[in-house]
Formats: sequence, structure tokens, C-alpha cells
Amino acid sequence: MVDPSQKFNLLFLSTPVGPLGSGLGGGVELTLTNLCQVLQGRGHRIAIAAPIGSSLNNATLIELPGALQPTAHTQGRQTSVTLPDDAVLANMCAYAHQAQTDYDLIVNFAYDWLPFYLTPFFERAIAHFISMGSLSDAMDTVIGQVAKQFPNTLGVYTRTQADTFPFAHQCHILGSAVDLELYDYCDQPSPWMAWMGRISPEKGLEDAVAAAQISGIPLKILGKLEDPVYWQRILETYPDAPIEYLGFLPTAQLQAVLRQCRALLMTPRWVEAFGNVAIEALACGVPVITYARGGPTEIIQSGKTGWLVEPDCVAKLVEAMQRVDELSRRACREQAVKEYSLDALGDRFEHWFTEVLSTHRLF
Ligand code: UDP
Repeated sequence: MVDPSQKFNLLFLSTPVGPLGSGLGGGVELTLTNLCQVLQGRGHRIAIAAPIGSSLNNATLIELPGALQPTAHTQGRQTSVTLPDDAVLANMCAYAHQAQTDYDLIVNFAYDWLPFYLTPFFERAIAHFISMGSLSDAMDTVIGQVAKQFPNTLGVYTRTQADTFPFAHQCHILGSAVDLELYDYCDQPSPWMAWMGRISPEKGLEDAVAAAQISGIPLKILGKLEDPVYWQRILETYPDAPIEYLGFLPTAQLQAVLRQCRALLMTPRWVEAFGNVAIEALACGVPVITYARGGPTEIIQSGKTGWLVEPDCVAKLVEAMQRVDELSRRACREQAVKEYSLDALGDRFEHWFTEVLSTHRLF
């Protein structure tokens, strides 16, 4: 049980692939924002060690210099562990090591080898939030060692994500949330649909663009342009698709566009760990048409709050887009309210932290 009077003093290690607010960190940035909001509201103290240039509302940031880490999803399964010269990740770990006694618990959000490898060398407990599925042998090995030595310290978004790892049964399923007050419900949509996320091959944007071309339904694209070569290839392949790219938008502007959409399209090629964009859409009353792969299969109720479509099949995607009016926008918002509140997220993380700390005392 969580003792509500117990207040934690937490150090979060952010993702080292980009400054907070840049969009390079993907859904982890939203998760950090949400956790700060709910946990600080409950009286816990949080400091976030993050790359220099980071910004996050109402958060205490410890900005550290150094070269950004390459993203794990752009490396192959057998790739060796990489650390650039003067790596920001090394600087973040050095800070955490030197300042650890100022905190009750360190919570690592970096999907990188170093913080896992260093875990036994820390006096303070480290809880690791794993933000992606299995991508490399080296990561599976080092996380597996932590799972053995420090039970209870691994957290993930979804069961489907956990199942990609050999240590699946040792993962705490923590889910995600949206701050419902930031997303307005919209009952009367405009004619277009949307696709949102990092523009990078594992997100399969080309299928959404192909579906827009075939169906003639206009598509607004929002998100960080992570791979410009990939984006250029899509534009050359589908020159006549009715698409519009709006860039990477902050939440307030993002939801102003999103809420007017008839549906959000999700086309992941990889096992999507969660898919925060799905619950942001639901919060606005926007149904989600998604490949039935990864986290979205645990979120979307097919036929009610969206359609789960055979993965990698553009024809089925188009078919689902044409059946969007069978879905209830009210039911989408209701699902977000019922299942993805910040309060529930706060409860799950508080429970997990309590468990990590009580197990750690036994060592
Ligand atoms: N996002 C954003 N502005 C945009 C497009 C996307 O802030 O213009 C955010 C979105 O709110 C979500 C994140 O990008 O939090 C994408 O996260 P998701 O979990 O869907 O995928 P990931 O990038 O983690 O694989």
C-alpha cells in the first residue's frame, strides 16, 4: 500500500536523444510532462536531468551539456553499444552518481545501455521506465541483468511491449495518460483526417499517405521531421496525395487541429510501445484507425472508438477510413476520461516507486 503522507524526492533521467520540448524524445516527453504535473501536485519533488536546451513547464531542470545519443530505433539488432565523445548521457549518469544521496529514488527514462549497466554501482535505487520494445541484443542483455539483480525495478507502457522482451513477466505495466483539461472535445469534425508522430520509417507514414491518395480523403500531418530523406521519398512517391504537413506543434496547437479531424491514422511498422497520440485523439473525441500492432491493440476498441486494421494493408486502411462514421466520438472522449486520467497514472507510479524502494531495502 502507498502511504499518502510519504513524499518522494525524485531524480528523473530524461531521454538523451534530444532536449525536452524538441520532439525527438517522442512520447516520453509527454509522459515526463504528465508525471511532473500529477506527482508534483501530490507533493512529491522532482528534478529532471536532461540535455541542455530542454524546456518543461513547472519542472526543475538540471541541464547538462554533451553530444546527443543516437536513437535506438535507427540502429540494428546486432549493433554495438555506442556512446559519442563527450556524451550527454555520460554527463547525466555522472551527475546522478554524484548527487544520488540528495534523492530517495532515481527514475531512468533513457532507453540506453549505460544507465542499466551502471545500476549496481549506485547506492540509491534506480527504477527504469522502458519506453520502447526490444530493439537490440545488447539492450535485452543488460536490462535482463537488471531484472535478475533488482526485481521490480522495470516499468513499461503495455503488455504487448513487455512481451517483446525475454524478461516480460518482470515488467510493471504502467500505461500512459492525458491531461484531459488540455484537450477539447469536438463533435462536428472537418473533412480531413490526421497522422501524428515522429516522421521516421518505423512509423509507416507512407501507408497513411498512400491511403489518402487512394481514398481522396485529405490528410494533415503533424510531427517532428526526424528523417528528412525518408520524408522526401514519400513526397516523390505520392506527388498527388492530398496531404498537408503542419510541422511539430506544441500540445495546445496540436489539439486545436487534432480535435477537428474525422479520425487519426496510425500505421506502425514496429511494435508500438504505447502510442500516446492514440489517447490524445480519444481525448478530443477523435476515433483512431490503426494497424493492429503493439500498444494501440490494447487501447482501441475496434468498432467503437476506432478500427484495428490488418497491419501493412493499405486497402484495409482505406476500407476502415470509409467506415469512420460508424464510430462514436462521444465514446472516444468517454474512454479517455475513464481509462487515461492523470490521477490513475499517478497512483500506478506511486505504487511502483514504493515497491522499488521496499525491495531495495532488502539488498
Ligand atoms: N507530438 C507533438 N507535436 C506534434 C506531433 C506529435 O507534441 O506535432 C507528440 C505527441 O503529443 C506524442 C508524441 O509526439 O506525445 C509521439 O508519441 P508516441 O507515443 O505516439 O510515439 P513515439 O514517438 O514515442 O514512438
